[in-house]
Amino acid sequence: MSSKIDFQIIKSESVFLDPRKSYEPTTMEFQVRVDPLTGRTGHFSHFGAVKPQKLDLESYDQTGIKGFCPFCPKNREKATPKFTKDIFTAGRSSRGEATIIPNLFPYDVHSSVLIMTDEHVVPIRNFSKQRLLDAFSLGIEFLKKIHTIDSSLPYHLMTWNYMPPSGGGIVHPHQQYFATAYPGNQFMDELRASEKFHQQHDKMFWLECIGEEQKREERYIGQIGNSHWLSSFVCFGFLGDLLCVFPDAFSIDDFTDTHIDNLVSGMLNIFRYYESAGVYSFNVSLFFGPVEQNFFPCHFRITPRTFLNIRDFAPDMNFFQTVLAEPICLVLPEELCREVKPFFA
Ligand SMILES: [Zn+2]
Repeated sequence: MSSKIDFQIIKSESVFLDPRKSYEPTTMEFQVRVDPLTGRTGHFSHFGAVKPQKLDLESYDQTGIKGFCPFCPKNREKATPKFTKDIFTAGRSSRGEATIIPNLFPYDVHSSVLIMTDEHVVPIRNFSKQRLLDAFSLGIEFLKKIHTIDSSLPYHLMTWNYMPPSGGGIVHPHQQYFATAYPGNQFMDELRASEKFHQQHDKMFWLECIGEEQKREERYIGQIGNSHWLSSFVCFGFLGDLLCVFPDAFSIDDFTDTHIDNLVSGMLNIFRYYESAGVYSFNVSLFFGPVEQNFFPCHFRITPRTFLNIRDFAPDMNFFQTVLAEPICLVLPEELCREVKPFFA
């Protein structure tokens, strides 16, 4: 029986007269891929053109560059908001170094910020297992609590901008945890497409996809507990996206300490890869679907970010993402998988 998952790649090329080769004709290849779930396309071209730039992390701690940081322990008490008493009677909640607070500039009804560390500048290698476990378990416990208080908001998500190239406005490590009715276009497109696939095939897209990826051995990286790690067939970032799917957890209520442990273990592997690859910045999402469904499992995505250069700090997002809403990636997911896999061995 043929697969229900269609990994469609449109390979194409462009020919020009090359000034580097005495104007001889040169052929450059590129690809357009169609996401097997949502049907949305992504471009793959300009292969290998961008390398992640080294950030001068020490400079972020220097007076003048650092500026005022509300998340540093000495400012936190006076500069950060508190939750209303129905959420946390003490106003904030902490675990280890992690502290969760409301966002002073909320994006949604329940829009929290989780300060991950006491230190202002934390290199990737200094995210210990304990620091990550404390952050994720506190953030997820917050979302579970919000769900009991306000079940009218069906979707939950965690996001993380790490370091300035990712769009992070504050260097001090912090994540966002949202309960929302409007989790964004990507979330909703995936949710609707997952439901449609389930109706058509009476199967869960994500499990089918994992099975197919395991068979193909092109993008499947490995399994930790019941979490499955792979490179994304269509990538949102220049340097390729890594995914983790938890096929036995669907809503925030299903996400246990074991899931958190598996997530953090995989992230630590990715962080070791990022160290070796010179990645200094990334974006992260973790999606939790609504309750009472069995077709849209919790899943995680991480994608590196970089300035194109540190001469004029050109960002790695351009018209493609901002006005065409089309991702462009400069590495092939199959190559990314090959590079990351040894870190999961
Ligand atoms: Zn700080």
